[in-house]
Amino acid sequence: MVIFMTQMDDAKNGIITDQMKAVAKIENVDEEFIRKSVAAGTIAIPNNITRNAKPVGIGAGLRTKVNATIGTSTDIKDIDMEFEKAKVAMENKADTLMELSIGGDLDAIRQKIISITDLPVGSVPIYQAAVESINKNGSPIYMEEDSMFKAIEKQAKDGIDFMAIHCSVNRETLKRLKRQGREGGLVSRGGAFLSAWMVHNEIENPLYKNYDQVLDIAKEYDFTISLANGMRAGAIADSTDRAQVQELIILGELVDRAREAGVQTIVEGPGHIPLKEIQTNVMVQKKLCRGAPFYMLGPIVTDIAPAYDHIVSSIGAAQSAGAGADFICYVTPAEHLALPGPDDVKRGVIATRIGAYVGDMAKGVHNGELDLKMANARKKLNWEAQYAAAICPADARAIRDARPPEDPDTCTMCGNYCAVKIVNEWLDDADQDVFD
Ligand code: SF4
Repeated sequence: MVIFMTQMDDAKNGIITDQMKAVAKIENVDEEFIRKSVAAGTIAIPNNITRNAKPVGIGAGLRTKVNATIGTSTDIKDIDMEFEKAKVAMENKADTLMELSIGGDLDAIRQKIISITDLPVGSVPIYQAAVESINKNGSPIYMEEDSMFKAIEKQAKDGIDFMAIHCSVNRETLKRLKRQGREGGLVSRGGAFLSAWMVHNEIENPLYKNYDQVLDIAKEYDFTISLANGMRAGAIADSTDRAQVQELIILGELVDRAREAGVQTIVEGPGHIPLKEIQTNVMVQKKLCRGAPFYMLGPIVTDIAPAYDHIVSSIGAAQSAGAGADFICYVTPAEHLALPGPDDVKRGVIATRIGAYVGDMAKGVHNGELDLKMANARKKLNWEAQYAAAICPADARAIRDARPPEDPDTCTMCGNYCAVKIVNEWLDDADQDVFD
C-alpha cells in the first residue's frame, strides 16, 4: 500500500516545505509560525503535488486573499474570452483562480487554464459530473455515484490545487431546508445539483457518506479541500438560517476528519448576509471549524444592487476580513445578470482587493503603510508617487490624463484654487509663523 505524505503531514512532522518558506517570506512572518499553522489546519497553502503553484498562504495571521472565478456557461462557450478573463484576473492581482466552466470541452478548458497561470487553481468537480449526466440523460438527477469521485480524481490529476466539494449537503441539512423554507431558494449550483439528486434518488449524498474516499484522493494529490457551502443563503431574508447552521456543524466535523487524514481544508461561508450578521458568522464558523481558513463568497450585503454587486461585495469583504475571514471570492458587476466579461472580472478583482485591504487594516495585518505613502504623495502633489501607491495605477492615471489641468501640479477639480498647493506654500514659507 502506498502511503502519501501531504504538506500537512510534513508540517506535523516538523518539516518546513519550500512552499511554507516562501509564504513566510511573502507575508513577512516566521517560518515556524507557518509550519505550526499548517500542521494545526489554521493556514492552508493550496498546491497540488503535480504542480508548483505560486505559494499562497490562506489563513489566520496572513493577508486576506482574493479569488477570481472564471468559466464558460451553457449559453456562452467562448473559450478565448475565458483565457482573457484569466489574464485580466492575474494582471489585476487576484491571488487564486477558480475554473468553473459548465459549457464546452470541460477537460480542455481546465487543462489550458492550468497551463497559462502559476496561481493556485480551484474547481467545483460536481459540475463536471452533473454536466456529463445532463449531456447524457438530460438531468443531474441521473448522475452515477461513481462519476462524482471520478470527476474529483480527473481534476486532481490535471493539477487542481483546491476543490470546492459539496460533502456537507446531507439528509439532515435538506430536512432543515425543507422545514424552514426559503424566500430566495437555493443558489449554490453544486448544492442544487446534489439536493435534486438526493431528493430524486432518496439516498444520502455519496460525498458525505464516502467522505473517506474523497480524503484518499485529496491525500494522493495533496490538493486542499474547500468544503463547499451548499446551503448558503441567496437572499438577505434567508441569511444564517437553520439549514446553513446545520451545514456548518457538519462542516466542522468534516474539517476534523480531514485534519486527521493530513488533508488541508478551507471552509466556505455565505453568501447573502446583512452586515450586522457577518461578525457572528465569522466567529461561529471559526469556532465550529476550529480555526479553519474561512472562505467568504462575496458576501453580498444587500440584494438590491444588480450591476453594482462588486461594490456591495467589497463592503461585505471589508467587514468579513476585518472580522477574521481569510479568503474572499470576488463578485463582479455581472452577478445575478449575466456571465461576466473581462471588464467585469477587472472590476470584481479590484473591488474585492479594496475590501480585503480595508478589512486587513481592521484585522491588524497591516497598519495602513500604503495609505501613509498616498497621503505624503498627495501633500507633495507628487502624481507619480500617488499612482505607485494606488490599488490600480493605470485607472488613476487614465482619469487624470483624460482631463489634464493647466497647472501640472494640481488637478482639474479645484485648478488654480488647489487647497493643497495653497496650504503647502504657506507651510513652506519660513518667514510666516502662526498668528504673528
Ligand atoms: S486641485 Fe483640489 S482635488 Fe486636485 S489636488 Fe488640489 S486640492 Fe486636491
